[in-house]
Amino acid sequence: MELDKMDENDWKYHGEGNKSLVVSHVQHSRVLRLLKYPSEDAENAHQTTEQAFQHILYIVDYSRNVMKPLLGEKYVHSGEVVKLPLDFVRQLSLKIQQERPELRCDKVMDTISGCGLCLPNLTHLSPCHFGDCRPPLCVEIKPKCGFLPFSRHVTKECKRKVCRFCMHQHFKLASGKWNRQSRYCPLDLFSGSKQRMYIAIRNLLEEPQNNLKIFKGGELIYSCKDDAKQKPDLNELIQHLWPYFHHSNGHQLSRTVLSEFIQVICSALLSTGDSNRSGEHRKMQLGESRILCEASPLHRDLLRNGTVGLPKDCVLAKILQAQMLDNLDIEGLYPLYKRVEQYLEEFPKERNRLHIDGPYDASFLEKVKTCPSEDDGSIEYAVAKVHQYRVAMTAKDCSIMITFAPCGEDEKLQPHLEIQPTKSRFAFSVSILDLDPKPYESIPHQYKLDSKILNYYLKSTNATQ
Ligand code: ATP
Ligand code: MG
Ligand code: MG
Repeated sequence: MELDKMDENDWKYHGEGNKSLVVSHVQHSRVLRLLKYPSEDAENAHQTTEQAFQHILYIVDYSRNVMKPLLGEKYVHSGEVVKLPLDFVRQLSLKIQQERPELRCDKVMDTISGCGLCLPNLTHLSPCHFGDCRPPLCVEIKPKCGFLPFSRHVTKECKRKVCRFCMHQHFKLASGKWNRQSRYCPLDLFSGSKQRMYIAIRNLLEEPQNNLKIFKGGELIYSCKDDAKQKPDLNELIQHLWPYFHHSNGHQLSRTVLSEFIQVICSALLSTGDSNRSGEHRKMQLGESRILCEASPLHRDLLRNGTVGLPKDCVLAKILQAQMLDNLDIEGLYPLYKRVEQYLEEFPKERNRLHIDGPYDASFLEKVKTCPSEDDGSIEYAVAKVHQYRVAMTAKDCSIMITFAPCGEDEKLQPHLEIQPTKSRFAFSVSILDLDPKPYESIPHQYKLDSKILNYYLKSTNATQ
């Protein structure tokens, strides 16, 4: 990419989240991720170029030096910071404005700093020479937190029985964020049981909210519509999927097409990326009590039988391990945050040594990995737990990209690049994206939000505890 010859016509709107907006190159398999900020801040351009550049550098450092070693080299692409011509960024912002979903327009794209992050386009498959004319399919899943808190600091019994996502649904419905409840439960997805995972994915397909998107050839073909009243059309999706799951031996029922599609997603989520195809992988086991959510719509027997655990190195196990660094729960963490705050008030210069806001280097990771298991009352312990909690927050908010394309009968693939759960053969890749550091300052907000969600859930379900 030649930075001095950037042309907005080479880029198109790709998608956005709460913090950033993404455009993709029309020819090359690249995306640019640009920061956003609340439109009311637009006037007084709160960040200088230097600050924006530093901020994106920290995002890259955090992904490369902290999240990548924890989640696995093969899943994480950290990208590089680029300084773009301001003229290009301004033209680009104008060009894409009408394609942005209305519900995201409370924020504007940063057109002042010219800084961005350049990443591989993960909706594409590389190398893309599979001699098949069907474009790759990509399923993006934002799985959210996959376990029940086990900390002794948890005060309300309900938090040990109903997972955060399921509780949060009640709150989101009441606040008008969504107007239909999702039946997806992260504990089903992270269970490792094919049956439970299948149902979790089917529930995501039925009500994607912001937890599922599907791309074909890099284009978004299935997601929660801007007009949330309208349910996305599963039949339309099936029409797209048909050519990928159509077998020469007869007609496929819609049901079968969808079911094969879900099985491919499950296989990719459980794949460990090595050539051990015997299925004899070591399993990551959690206590039964941590993986059964009472709010999951699944029948209890199915839940009980579904405690098989995840293959140790699959993408879900990696994410779950990082999420479980939050082992005190926000209720146990908050007093430690206050200990840090108090200490910093007294010794403000210690902020850097303690890596409160970075830098996110090898020694930050070391602190995360070597935190003592018992509280010795020290500031070091409190800081390490805060760091661990922030890493867990990132892992609870990331997305998984599963990209796959059919490969012909005679194509020889390395075993780890191939899945064949059903009759079709697919080449695939799995990545994790959106691994930004979560701000230290947001911990008090998390603490309040936790009790707000819990109290609302208790009130609305008339639960006793
Ligand atoms: P969130 O609100 O979830 O925190 P965010 O603002 O941090 O989101 P991202 O999730 O990084 O933003 O990006 C927004 C969307 O852009 C993603 O959901 C995904 O669909 C798309 N996207 C981001 N990075 C890539 C990539 N490297 N390749 C393809 N698509 C991408
Ligand atoms: Mg995101
Ligand atoms: Mg994000």
